[in-house]
Amino acid sequence: MTAQPFSATVLGSPRIGPRRELKRVTESYWAGRIDQDELKKVAAGLRRDTWAQLAAAGLDSVPVNTFSYYDQMLDTAVLLGALPARVAGVADELDRYFAAARGNAEIAPLEMTKWFDTNYHYIVPEIGPDTKFTLNPAKVLSELAEAREQGFGGKVARPVIIGPVTFLLLSKAVDGAAAPISRLDELTDVYAELLGKLADAGAEWVQIDEPVLVTDISADAPALAEQVYNRLGGLHNRPSIFVATYFGDPGAGLAALARTPVEAIGVDLVYGPDTAIATVPELASKTLVAGVVDGRNIWRTDLQAALAKLATLLGSAANVAVSTSCSTLHVPYSLEPETGLDDALRSWLAFGAEKVTEVVTLARALREGREAVAEEIEASNAAVASRKSDPRLNNAALRAQIAEIRVSGVQRGSAEARRAAQEERLHLPPLPTTTIGSFPQTVEIRKARAALVAGEIDEAEYTNRMKAEVAAVIKLQEELGLDVLVHGEPERNDMVQYFAEQLEGFFATSNGWVQSYGSRCVRPPVLFGDVTRPKPMTTAWATYAQSLTDKPVKGMLTGPVTILAWSFVRDDQPLADTAYQVALAIREETVDLEAAGIAVIQVDEPALRELLPVRDADKAAYLDWAVGAFRMSTSGVSDATQIHTHLCYSEFGEVIGAIADLDADVTSIEAARSHMEVLDDLNAIGFSNGVGPGVYDIHSPRVPSTDEMAASLREALDAVPAQRLWVNPDCGLKTRKPDEVTASLANLVAAAKQARAGV
Ligand code: GLN
Ligand code: ZN
Repeated sequence: MTAQPFSATVLGSPRIGPRRELKRVTESYWAGRIDQDELKKVAAGLRRDTWAQLAAAGLDSVPVNTFSYYDQMLDTAVLLGALPARVAGVADELDRYFAAARGNAEIAPLEMTKWFDTNYHYIVPEIGPDTKFTLNPAKVLSELAEAREQGFGGKVARPVIIGPVTFLLLSKAVDGAAAPISRLDELTDVYAELLGKLADAGAEWVQIDEPVLVTDISADAPALAEQVYNRLGGLHNRPSIFVATYFGDPGAGLAALARTPVEAIGVDLVYGPDTAIATVPELASKTLVAGVVDGRNIWRTDLQAALAKLATLLGSAANVAVSTSCSTLHVPYSLEPETGLDDALRSWLAFGAEKVTEVVTLARALREGREAVAEEIEASNAAVASRKSDPRLNNAALRAQIAEIRVSGVQRGSAEARRAAQEERLHLPPLPTTTIGSFPQTVEIRKARAALVAGEIDEAEYTNRMKAEVAAVIKLQEELGLDVLVHGEPERNDMVQYFAEQLEGFFATSNGWVQSYGSRCVRPPVLFGDVTRPKPMTTAWATYAQSLTDKPVKGMLTGPVTILAWSFVRDDQPLADTAYQVALAIREETVDLEAAGIAVIQVDEPALRELLPVRDADKAAYLDWAVGAFRMSTSGVSDATQIHTHLCYSEFGEVIGAIADLDADVTSIEAARSHMEVLDDLNAIGFSNGVGPGVYDIHSPRVPSTDEMAASLREALDAVPAQRLWVNPDCGLKTRKPDEVTASLANLVAAAKQARAGV
């Protein structure tokens, strides 16, 4: 129990493999191309390499059990014996785990949702009345044993587990069970048993993650945590306990943890203010694990500023250890493969491996004095200075232009004036039909993209092939009888990357992959500088599509909040300032689309809810700029141009007021799975613009029948008058098969006709 304190660590690290090896073998295993032994061999190799690198870089405490075949919350459910009964019939352990994560022909998977305000998605454990917690420590014990065997010193291997308060507050009650958190006492017994096992296996430290303490999910969380850690801290046979909080300010949770006997507490000093630390006297006997290196964004640490911050903490705790603010799971492995960047840009960045080096440097400065790392500080200062003075980051004319538009030009005409002008221009029937934008990414599209990348075809040939796709999609929509058509988005690899590639102020990494969920990885663009639009980005596609039909074609853009949410964003100015720059670029695009004769423009904001801050107190300010940026994007056009937006969810919760404030003429939302309840929610806040609750659930291969969709529309008409109701699927069609889409849309148009006949 009186283990040596450590001085330099990270809270966790990426696990997909530096070349996405884990993704590849896992998917091969799912496809039946390799067996389990092969999968496990690759996984063990990745763990070994990770530990070896962390230890070699100079960390004196190395996290283990941060590897996962899919997700750490799902791993915790397994650890606690809390998998749902419906997977129990799968005999093989790993297959059972994957069945819970992904489902199979008979078994529905567990739900997945966003991990706090990151782009990582976790599996939501289900706690039913029959869930019986039992300890199943095989994974953590074997990873601990593996790490110890590897020989870089059993002492420094520190198992990481998710804590009971976070586990229960992020789980979901099913089958009429009480709120999972009501099971906290019982679950704490299982953790007590686990700590005994870890101590017996030689673990000197254990890291228990309680990020839920930085949120307002439960006002009781600090008191519950105090109760749990008093109990676990009072055990005789246990490792030293390090409770980690991250992604924000633990608030009252910090003092609550400090009053318990745990030996170390982790605080995120990048996203959480550090002022409260001096006011917690109980920290004086503990190790404070100071998360001063940003674990979730890719910027190089300002070492001098971080050292100054660390210096203020020295008097507050018995020992100050240096760490990343959270697991580096959320950033790419290493800068090494990024050879295409200019020197300045590269000098501003730190990916996973570079962050470890920063932690070690800072710990060394604390131990030996800053002279010991003078060279590193000098290099860091040079990077800070170069970033500050780079003209790409400070376009004065752009800033002035934005300030002016914010004052004078983000107001459109009244809703009535717009409705009248649009009616006259568009002549749409009641209950107009449309889609959300993308059509299936066909084999031909994929082949053409691969051929372009491989250099087998040139840009011109690629463009021709995409034009053929657009023509086919327009023809199909005309045959189906849809009212507002789309070009189908065949030319877009990704709805954010497509724009990032065309805007100034962004760059693309060559190997900057991060795990999004399971085996799925994304390569977010980096928004490093002031954002401007050198030339139109989508007008050629929209006007080409419009030239093929007399029906209106909807121009398709991605909104500023979504572009920010799915990129790594500069941290040297408030997010709001960056959002307004992206908004101006989108605004310029809408103006060009309008000038080119496009009468309907959709600005997608599927990520509006994702960026919501973790603390309630910060939410209003966020929604204010999120709405402001959307309105800047969409208010440059005349009243006769119809603005649509699309949101990918129907549980609006805290963002419902903001949805009304976006003031789009038409909003399409998910609803096929939530039975039109969303319309009542929107009515309740006085929403009075056009709305298209999805009547076709595109997340399923099932073709909905005409009767079924007509019934949904009748239900919708109880809540919304016909003049305001639109008929559409609940999201883009890119993941669906062409024949499913054709059949479903034919039924959707028939359902709209049926419903029109009744009004
Ligand atoms: N317009 C996009 C599409 O149809 C919207 C995607 C989304 O909502 N995520 O694919
Ligand atoms: Zn969507």
